[in-house]
Amino acid sequence: MGKGHDHQHPPSDMALRVKALETALTDKGLIDPATLDAIVDLYENQVGPKNGARIVAKAWADPGFKKKLLADGTGTIADFGFPALQGEDMVVVENTSEVHNLVVCTLCSCYPWPVLGLPPAWYKSSAYRARSVSEPRKVLEEFGVSVDESKAVRVWDSTAEIRYLVLPERPAHTENLSEDELAALVTRDSMIGTGLASAPQKG
Ligand code: FE
Repeated sequence: MGKGHDHQHPPSDMALRVKALETALTDKGLIDPATLDAIVDLYENQVGPKNGARIVAKAWADPGFKKKLLADGTGTIADFGFPALQGEDMVVVENTSEVHNLVVCTLCSCYPWPVLGLPPAWYKSSAYRARSVSEPRKVLEEFGVSVDESKAVRVWDSTAEIRYLVLPERPAHTENLSEDELAALVTRDSMIGTGLASAPQKG
C-alpha cells in the first residue's frame, strides 16, 4: 500500500503487551479494570486534548504564534512543550470561512498523541476511516457539523510520518477572553475536524 505508511507505531504489539499486563495485574488483584477504563477515558477526553487546546488558544490569541504554527507545526509544537514521540512531523491545518479540514488515518489509527492524547474508538473504526474519505460531508453531518456547500472540505490522511492537527475557527464574541478561557472552548473533536469549537457562555 502507500509509501510512507510504515506501521512502526505500536498498535498490535503494544496492544498485546498492555492486555497481558492488564490481565496479570487484574489477576493479582492489583487493579480494577473499571478503574483502568476510567483512566483511559480521562486521557482520551481530558488530559490529552488539553495540550492541543492550549496550542489552539495561543494561536487564536497570538498572530505571530499562529503564523509560526502553520509554517512549522513540528518545531512550534515541540518548542511549546509537546515534542513528537517518534519523530513524526506535525502539520497544522487551519479552518477558515473557505475550508473545513477533517483528519483521518485511512489505514489504521495514526493520531497526534502529544497534542490529543489517545484516539477515540470511532477514529479507529473502519467506517470512519473509509467514509470520511468517500463522503466527508455526510460523516460531518452525523457528527453534528454541517458545512455550507460554498465551503470546501479537505480530508487529511495521517501516516506514521505525518500527523495533522486542525486549528478550528475562533468562535464569535470571544474577543475579551483570556487564553485559558479560550482553551476551554476547544474540544477534542474540533481539533480532528469532526466538531467545532464551542460558543462562549453568555453572561
Ligand atoms: Fe495509521
